[in-house]
Amino acid sequence: MNISELFNNRLHEQHDLFAKHVNPQLVRVLRTIGFDKKYVRAEGQYLYDKEGNQYLDFLSGYGVFNMGRNHPRLKKSLHEALDMDTANMVQMDAPLLAGILAEKLLEKVNGSVLRQAQDERKNLDTVFFTNSGTEANEGAIKFARCATKRQRIIYLEHAFHGLTTGSLALNGNDEFKNGFGDLLPGCTAVPAGDLNVLEYELSKKDVAAFVFEAVQGKGVYSPPKEYFAKAEELCRKHGTLLVADEVQSGLGRTGKWFAFEHFGISPDIVTIAKALSGGFVPVGAICYRKDIYNKVYSKMDRCVVHSNTFGRNTLAMAAGLTALKVLEEENLIENAAKRGEEIVNGLNLIKEKFEMVSDVRGRGLMIAIEFDRPKSTKLKIGWDLIHKVNSGLFGQMVVVPLLTKHRILTQVTGHNCDIVKLLPPLCINDEDVNHFLTAFEDVVSECHKFPGGAWEIGKQLAKQALSA
Ligand code: PLP
Repeated sequence: MNISELFNNRLHEQHDLFAKHVNPQLVRVLRTIGFDKKYVRAEGQYLYDKEGNQYLDFLSGYGVFNMGRNHPRLKKSLHEALDMDTANMVQMDAPLLAGILAEKLLEKVNGSVLRQAQDERKNLDTVFFTNSGTEANEGAIKFARCATKRQRIIYLEHAFHGLTTGSLALNGNDEFKNGFGDLLPGCTAVPAGDLNVLEYELSKKDVAAFVFEAVQGKGVYSPPKEYFAKAEELCRKHGTLLVADEVQSGLGRTGKWFAFEHFGISPDIVTIAKALSGGFVPVGAICYRKDIYNKVYSKMDRCVVHSNTFGRNTLAMAAGLTALKVLEEENLIENAAKRGEEIVNGLNLIKEKFEMVSDVRGRGLMIAIEFDRPKSTKLKIGWDLIHKVNSGLFGQMVVVPLLTKHRILTQVTGHNCDIVKLLPPLCINDEDVNHFLTAFEDVVSECHKFPGGAWEIGKQLAKQALSA
């Protein structure tokens, strides 16, 4: 079978086939908002459709493509790994590439931990490889429970740690939880920034782990700077492990290797995934300390007590090793910090001109733009009409023309909120930043004209929502 022939011959069936056999509701949404494009090629920060139109990808596959899409060095190393005909997944062996990737990953994680902590004992020295972010968090929950002999997990409001039943129990949005019955018991949400509530929960001395995203994926929220340092102190005092979920914010996304570095803390466990794949082979990791390992894998007959089938496979390890190299050697982390600042500065100028833009927040290239109810009477009518139908529709009025008029792919983050999120590849350049800022100003300016074209889009979307 020739895959490219198959792809080209059946391209016209793309959305129908997906709707028939995979997810019809998603296809309905794509069609409703005009996102049912047929992308046939991608390179770096760009997607291309059948007609050769170029789209700027400010979504990065939810944070997978930090190094851009189809990176030639990643392709080369994967071809090389395939051609080596390795003795892959023997299982009863200790694969070399897994050892090397663990070593390199820990150097990155400890680079910051050591600098902050000046204490070797706090170094993370052990890695468990997973196939996804949620699997990394599930493992972290198990390790923390086993190591502390405690059951409860504390997490932050607005959190997103994955959608399997353990990680889902730590989700700050009920929309994701509804309909799936009882999840992992003993999980309690606390408001980010409130140390009294955190201490109240931790002082019960039954909390295994405090799981957090230093910069949250849903809405790009971070608590005040002092919060995490104080939270770390409290966790140490009460015997709770700190688990940093760096699945989205890790590997340079926020302008540092890991988002927890912005807060000068030393987590006991760090979970990583997404960009470690290089955009090719799913790979995640739990980085943790040997004393935790020793409690979980406490004797020889527990050597695979937590394990998986695909975790350390050759292609995943090759992708991970090359992804780290590319991020480092192409200065993508520095670029994330620089471009992030340029975008946030540009957005703040736009915010001053348009009343509905209420907040711009970001770390590196993880950026949120929040909209709020306007003060002027005319706009208020439009805002209230749209929000009466669906509280998530206004964001679509921004995201839809960004794609359909300006060919920039973005997303509305979370449910029932007016937040647009930007998550571009870390390799974006001057031209991309300017293209985005010009397009965004155009779209926002249209939204500030009521009645007008933007509100017509809103009305159409509202109609569709009501008929759904
Ligand atoms: N943790 C965070 C912070 C995430 O953003 C995500 C995914 O978006 C996950 C965990 C889950 O990762 P995965 O989709 O690979 O299971």
